[in-house]
Amino acid sequence: METDGYNDGNRAFIQAFMGHSFMTFEETQPVLAAIISAQAGSTENRSVDPDDITQEHLAAFISAANSAVSRFDLEIRSSLHQTPKNPDSDAPDTAPARVYALVNTISDPLTQLATTYTADEIAFVKRILDFMFSTNNTRLCEGMVILSTQAIQLGRASSGDANRRRSGNAESQQTQGGVANSLNMKQAEAMLQQLLEEGWLEKSRKGYYSLTPRALMELRGWLVSTYNDAITPNRIKFCNACGDIMTAGQRCGERDCKGRLHDHCIRNFFRVQQAEQCPVCKREWPGDCFVGERAVTSNRRPNPNLAQPSAEPPSASNGPASGSDESSDGGEESESNDASGMAEG
Ligand SMILES: [Zn+2]
Ligand SMILES: [Zn+2]
Repeated sequence: METDGYNDGNRAFIQAFMGHSFMTFEETQPVLAAIISAQAGSTENRSVDPDDITQEHLAAFISAANSAVSRFDLEIRSSLHQTPKNPDSDAPDTAPARVYALVNTISDPLTQLATTYTADEIAFVKRILDFMFSTNNTRLCEGMVILSTQAIQLGRASSGDANRRRSGNAESQQTQGGVANSLNMKQAEAMLQQLLEEGWLEKSRKGYYSLTPRALMELRGWLVSTYNDAITPNRIKFCNACGDIMTAGQRCGERDCKGRLHDHCIRNFFRVQQAEQCPVCKREWPGDCFVGERAVTSNRRPNPNLAQPSAEPPSASNGPASGSDESSDGGEESESNDASGMAEG
């Protein structure tokens, strides 16, 4: 009995993806060659050379696979890496590799990690994501990365408990929805290493962790619903050329404009447009305003949110700060040079 032409070959193809966090086209070639050879072998006894596998072969297998696994909320998606393979090379124009991954389309990191990690470890990951996409993703600096030293500091659970208990006590305790326990430095380092190996995080030469293309493909929906809220509806942004999520690339010179372009999208986009303009507001594209690691490293001024841990002046002169009207009368417009009470006059 045939089931929509879905066969052992299609299953083997999906299994290959299950064994890899992601695959490039080149990595799928020998897999597909073996599958097609096996299928043909039963009748014609000939083998297919991996080099003969084309993008069309891959597209056909992906299409068949996706129609088979969609009811399990799975999908093979593809994405380009947002940063060049070798950022320091002399050839910045080298196109990034497209990667393919079998992802859970309704994925959230808490569920994804639940089978392999403890609640404390998952809470640690959530603190890292909060840092990347909230703390280090502001109007003034869209970093969306975290230094390894900062990540290890986040091993400490955010609330309470200053005494570092390194006994086995913390491990035996299972937190269920309560306040998470801290990870010590070794545990945090081991966890980061595992997230690297499993393809969730990648680490730059300068020691910044960022989400991999695979993680972004998988978590896109969750990131939007988690970090875009009523107050900051556009914290997670998208490239105006390719529509993919934007965590590394360039931004419009106007901070409140939503114009964002990947490095690998810019050249082609401007050629088609025949002008180096922001795709949204049509201002001249600056080319030196960055999103991602370069937003942090190219910015001499440290992110004020990160530089001042706790020395916040009370600023009691403005009277009641509880009113929500304050934000509605154009507070976003000012460049926040100082905290003088302009609105109050
Ligand atoms: Zn793009
Ligand atoms: Zn713009």
